[in-house]
Amino acid sequence: MQVHTILREKGTDIHTIGPGATIAEAAARLRELGIGALVVSEDGAAITGIISERDIVYGLAEQGAGFLDLAVRDAMTADVVTCSPEDTGRVVLGRMTEHRMRHVPVVEAGRLVGLVSIGDVVKSRLQEIMSEADALRDYIAGA
Ligand code: AMP
Repeated sequence: MQVHTILREKGTDIHTIGPGATIAEAAARLRELGIGALVVSEDGAAITGIISERDIVYGLAEQGAGFLDLAVRDAMTADVVTCSPEDTGRVVLGRMTEHRMRHVPVVEAGRLVGLVSIGDVVKSRLQEIMSEADALRDYIAGA
């Protein structure tokens, strides 16, 4: 299944935060939205970085509560791994495994058009595998 199909099913909502927001604000947004990462962007289209719950937990463990007052730009990952709408779920899953991260922004013509999480990709792979198994069962039953 290609990423554009996954996005069509899950919706193209993209949650972003500005690099100047505080870590406390980012944590509150993650809690409010029930998600694990925010794309860091000034304008909602160009990617500056990504900040995930892991960055916040690790920063708190290393620096204590004062970490919450720092800016998102001080805790984000700036070198963002992305995918295109034409990539397959299998390719994106491989990229997540290779880079040990669970969120991949989707970029088309240099603009942010969505974000897929490991949950979205695993769900789509399961659907594919189950329909392949059904097709094989039907084939064997009809043979
Ligand atoms: P996650 O698994 O998404 O919670 O992220 C784990 C670590 O990888 C954190 O340091 C994130 O900032 C970073 N990260 C998450 N997504 C990406 C991405 N698409 N590209 C680069 N780093 C990422």
